[in-house]
Amino acid sequence: MERYADVPAHLEANRDPADFALTNKTLVCCYVCRLIKSRNQFADQGCDNCRNIMGPSISFEDFTTPNFSGMISIMDPKSSWACKWLHLGKYVPGSYAMAVNDDPPDELQDILENKGIKLRHG
Ligand SMILES: [Zn+2]
Repeated sequence: MERYADVPAHLEANRDPADFALTNKTLVCCYVCRLIKSRNQFADQGCDNCRNIMGPSISFEDFTTPNFSGMISIMDPKSSWACKWLHLGKYVPGSYAMAVNDDPPDELQDILENKGIKLRHG
């Protein structure tokens, strides 16, 4: 069965639209795949794409950042030209940041270096 990332707005659907700014502030994106979810979702479930890379030892605080710009939502990564263009074709459907405006923490850089993974910052 195909996995889907939770869309933050789904959980917030019953809230007053005036709360949106509050909700928006809690959105963070994964440094590695740029998946956007709320902080709570990352804390509970980790990253849908990078679980195997990160392992259990690293806290979501160390592989996510609120400092991203732009957002694209993807429903069918394999057939989307935009996904190929943004190198998102192998990831689960969900919302992704167009660019990350932060350098990853040293702890995450070490993990990625050890695994030979290079970050694309868009
Ligand atoms: Zn990720």
